[in-house]
Amino acid sequence: MYRLYNKLDLYTAEDLLFYYPRTYMEYPEELEDLKDKSKLSEGEAVALLIRVDEACRNRKTSRMDITTLSAFCGDVPVDMVWFRSPYIKSQIRLHESYVFYGRVSFDGTKGIKLEQPVVYTREKYVLQKKSLQPVYTLTRGLTNNQIKKNIRQILEEVTLSDPLPKAWVKKRELETLPFALRMIHFPDDFDSLSRARNRLVYDEFFLFLAQMELSKQDAISVPNSFSVVKEELYKKVLSSLPFPLTKGQESALQDVRSDVANSFVTQRLIQGDVGSGKTVIAFLLMTLFCENGYATAIMAPTEILATQHYNTFSEYVKTYDLPFETVLLTGSLSAKQKREVYDKLKEKRPMYIIGTHALIQEKADYENLALVITDEQHRFGVKQRDTLGKKGIHPFSIVMSATPIPRTLSMILYGDMNISVISDVPAKRLPIKNAVIKEQDRNKAYRFIAKEVEKGHQAYVICPLVSAGETTEEKNVTDYTGELKKVFPKTYGIGMLHGRMKPAEKNAVMDSFLKNEIQILVSTTVVEVGVNVPNATVMMIENANRFGLAQLHQLRGRVGRGDAQSYCIFLDGTKNEENSKRLEIISKSNDGFYIAGEDLKLRGPGDFYGIRQSGDLDFHLADIYQDAQLLQKASEDVKEFVSGEKEGEEEKKLLHHILHQSQRQYTNL
Ligand code: ADP
Ligand code: MG
Repeated sequence: MYRLYNKLDLYTAEDLLFYYPRTYMEYPEELEDLKDKSKLSEGEAVALLIRVDEACRNRKTSRMDITTLSAFCGDVPVDMVWFRSPYIKSQIRLHESYVFYGRVSFDGTKGIKLEQPVVYTREKYVLQKKSLQPVYTLTRGLTNNQIKKNIRQILEEVTLSDPLPKAWVKKRELETLPFALRMIHFPDDFDSLSRARNRLVYDEFFLFLAQMELSKQDAISVPNSFSVVKEELYKKVLSSLPFPLTKGQESALQDVRSDVANSFVTQRLIQGDVGSGKTVIAFLLMTLFCENGYATAIMAPTEILATQHYNTFSEYVKTYDLPFETVLLTGSLSAKQKREVYDKLKEKRPMYIIGTHALIQEKADYENLALVITDEQHRFGVKQRDTLGKKGIHPFSIVMSATPIPRTLSMILYGDMNISVISDVPAKRLPIKNAVIKEQDRNKAYRFIAKEVEKGHQAYVICPLVSAGETTEEKNVTDYTGELKKVFPKTYGIGMLHGRMKPAEKNAVMDSFLKNEIQILVSTTVVEVGVNVPNATVMMIENANRFGLAQLHQLRGRVGRGDAQSYCIFLDGTKNEENSKRLEIISKSNDGFYIAGEDLKLRGPGDFYGIRQSGDLDFHLADIYQDAQLLQKASEDVKEFVSGEKEGEEEKKLLHHILHQSQRQYTNL
């Protein structure tokens, strides 16, 4: 079992305690009368309040005991059946009412059937109804019940204490940590869950900001000893680009060029919506540093993206005939290849180093490194922010992010950086056309995709899951790829991509897609970040209701990157109106800022679980938009704590906690 937990990146009891449910299941209102049976759907969970007027019957077959009960809910006959549970009979008394909770099936009856329903007295069910059942992300072999059981055990056996000073908890009207942890897993009711979540969100912000502040305190202002004066090649590339830069791109470049004239080494955030053209900015700046004799690096959160940047940059180097080498450093290189790269670094030549973050952390010699760019910074989180600094290497640092956050928030989250915002997108680009469709229009969508493929374009089909198992309603990449091969002509290349594939396999698939050997790519959200295949003009997102709006916006950003008209089709699998409203927002606008704002307005107090805005900054629960107020409070508290005395017992304990948590995050990387 440990091994199963390890698969989920869980190693200690503490890890498991902080493994929060993916969502919660609510028990439905009990129905006294099934007047309108047509409203129910096969497989739906129902609770029926039924008066039992006919006795349970036990039957024995050669294989097992079978217990049946026939009753009515209103006028509708309900047949219930239990297997291997003869004791049920003794629990149900004649002429009394019970709530039967189970999944509906219509098969072979005039009324409805419930298999193995759970039986409650009405009073018990009313209590049960208030509670929410945790639903965890699973891995094959590990059940939800097992996780529940283990977490309950830990909660019972371990004495938890609260690292936050009591006065503080009171001032911010927070719950204690032990309460919060208990209630996030096993909420008594909705209100407790909401309060538990608030506390844990506060903690996430607090830890994040405290780590940032503490490392800032350790940091020294590093004098700028780099000399960036030559700009001939930089200007040459700039003037031969196939497109004019946008205003936002130009001012971001200008900002960095004035940074390099500073007397201290600085850090800058470049924020720009998906498709605003951040990669070319990175390339131009790296070229500028290269021609002044320095090595430069760009780090991407995934191998797919690193490889893509490597290919793009190598292409640029060829096109513009630049005398600098491009070097790829990723986890899938062999030890020998890595050594070769390290040897190159030692030569202190100017070059473009492109890699994933893990490798930049290794023991390479980066003495000549003057510029480090982190692409899609929001994917990394703070824990990796300062790894180079810890090694005594202090290059100029630029982080690039597509997360549209208001300036007040970015000042808190990126408090130590200067900020440039690219607020425009390339002028020639046509806005993406969007459609939200229901299941019945699926075939139309397929026909539309086929039409685009016939025109020579390509398509993404996004599914929430890698393989079947978690739930049945959601599409998974593995099975769905097979289904689509039957739908589309045999001549179409249909490829599959998901996070559990080996890096080399992933790269091969992306490469085929880029070369248009694959026309339809069925993928999980691994393509969410950064992927650039401008010939792809249509994206279809299955179970679109499963994703947060920010995530949908990022996903959609994979199309509409070239000159051709692009399309995004959201498949809405719910009957829930709130969800449909959310999809309406995204289908009406292509503007990340607007979408984030509208999404926030739509959210009531009950909307916080199940769907998160995005994976921003590695928070588990916190949502920088929705929890902006808590972020503000945590930020004030961190400032007070960091600047204050740390001699008292409570302060020492808190400091220890911060260090412990940051240690824990590092070891779990
Ligand atoms: P992102 O900001 O999401 O990282 P990319 O840098 O991947 O966006 O750019 C998306 C596409 O737009 C690329 O194909 C790139 O070549 C192109 N592009 C970048 N800047 C411009 C521009 N000013 N005009 C036209 N196309 C551009
Ligand atoms: Mg990008």
